[in-house]
Amino acid sequence: MNIAHKPTRSDRHATFERLNPLDGTVATVASACDVEDVGAIAEKAEAAFAVWSRFGPNARRAALSKAAAALEARATDFIAAMMAEIGATEGWARFNIMLAAGMIREAAAMTTQIGGEIIPSDKPGCLAMTVREPVGVILGIAPWNAPIILGVRAIAMPLACGNTVILKASELCPRTHSLIVASFIDAGLPDGAVNIVTHAAAEAGPVVGALIDHPAIRRINFTGSTAVGRIIAKRAAEHLKPVLLELGGKAPLIVLDDADLDEAVKAAAFGAFMNQGQICMSTERIIVVDAVAEAFVARFREKVATLEVGDPRTGTAPLGAVADLKTVHHVQSLVDDAVAAGATLVNGGTAQGVLMPAHVVDGVTPAMRLFRDESFGPVVAIVRARDEDHAVTLANDTEYGLSAAVFTRDTARGLRVARRIRSGICHINGPTVHDEAQMPFGGVKNSGYGRFGGKAGIDAFTELRWITLETEGGHFPI
Ligand code: NAD
Repeated sequence: MNIAHKPTRSDRHATFERLNPLDGTVATVASACDVEDVGAIAEKAEAAFAVWSRFGPNARRAALSKAAAALEARATDFIAAMMAEIGATEGWARFNIMLAAGMIREAAAMTTQIGGEIIPSDKPGCLAMTVREPVGVILGIAPWNAPIILGVRAIAMPLACGNTVILKASELCPRTHSLIVASFIDAGLPDGAVNIVTHAAAEAGPVVGALIDHPAIRRINFTGSTAVGRIIAKRAAEHLKPVLLELGGKAPLIVLDDADLDEAVKAAAFGAFMNQGQICMSTERIIVVDAVAEAFVARFREKVATLEVGDPRTGTAPLGAVADLKTVHHVQSLVDDAVAAGATLVNGGTAQGVLMPAHVVDGVTPAMRLFRDESFGPVVAIVRARDEDHAVTLANDTEYGLSAAVFTRDTARGLRVARRIRSGICHINGPTVHDEAQMPFGGVKNSGYGRFGGKAGIDAFTELRWITLETEGGHFPI
């Protein structure tokens, strides 16, 4: 399929292909932008800023509400695109549509909440106030794994705050990301307010670099790997442009001795294997205390054995495809490395192409790569801890700090443990995978900085200014 909304290079008819990971057929033909196209797109977004930033809050709310409905109206196209481009299950695609539409509606609801305040001034007759103003053009860079949610997250709140946006699509899902922009265009936002850049994989570095360098772009938000986040933060630092970074994770789920094991098993299986473990919040390490480890592992093994993998186009198996063979090889090498070092394979099986069964490895220790490296695939490590203190130490023994969870029937204890875990997000008696539009979402350490979601998003996508009004004559020392 050709993408409807084409940036300037489409005049030169340059395109690239995204192949279906399941069968190698062409999933999408998309416009292939290069660095030469960046200037025109950024300038178009800058010109539209003069128009969109003057829309009142209720006009912005109305347009965004329409965009949410337009996105839902394209559900069939979105599901087909996600299945073809990343091998997603229909369930994951529908969840993406639901949460993404919710994020647009939440952003729409916030347009009247972008307030300032009056601050008491020591100067007689001085009225001091703060106002929040839109920033300009915001560049949002999104990955493929939850493509509608993360593409929408990159642009909805920036638009609500009166900015114009450029969505830099993932080369793995250009059709899915283009459908998001098409939905906003359907809703009648001014021409140039919402833009997309699609490019072939080899152009990622140069195109993103040129976008960051462009003077019209004032802020950047990036969701993706820690390695690329570091490249982007460095480039933006050259221009002193603020960046919001949502990066990788290695989420721990702690099971304490007084946990409801059935609940812990359900949450751990969902958190580890939803979308084949390709979620930044995915449970990557189950840290279970010795007292209940045998019982937990026995029940978890049984539960995971029911999680079949299958072609999402022809069935309703809970696990679909992973995005590429690289993921299969990466997960397999983490499993092999752990088993060679003494860990035990509890669940597993041979991958058929990109259809990889759920893998569970018990007896993983901090010395193994599976303990530290983000798998971003269908594998979870079980790590045994002596007691609560040891469990917290193991949970914090990671470069990452995005999501976490703790299971215990003693809620006060759960709260104490949650406060000791160094992560942006922690759920007591819930899975590590949990996102809602109105919540502050983000990590610490190498999982990034800044927060999407609700009021935190206003902070991220506006300039806070101090303005004074003198109502009496001035008295100056010179
Ligand atoms: P990625 O970092 O490879 O790609 C993300 C984006 O960066 C893409 O748009 C890509 O085109 C661009 N990119 C790639 N190379 C680049 C370069 N050299 N310079 C500039 N840009 C470049 O990540 P991915 O594989 O698409 O996504 C998986 C990663 O994203 C995982 O680490 C996952 O944990 C993380 N993630 C984080 C969150 C979060 O909210 N914290 C959410 C989803 C995914």
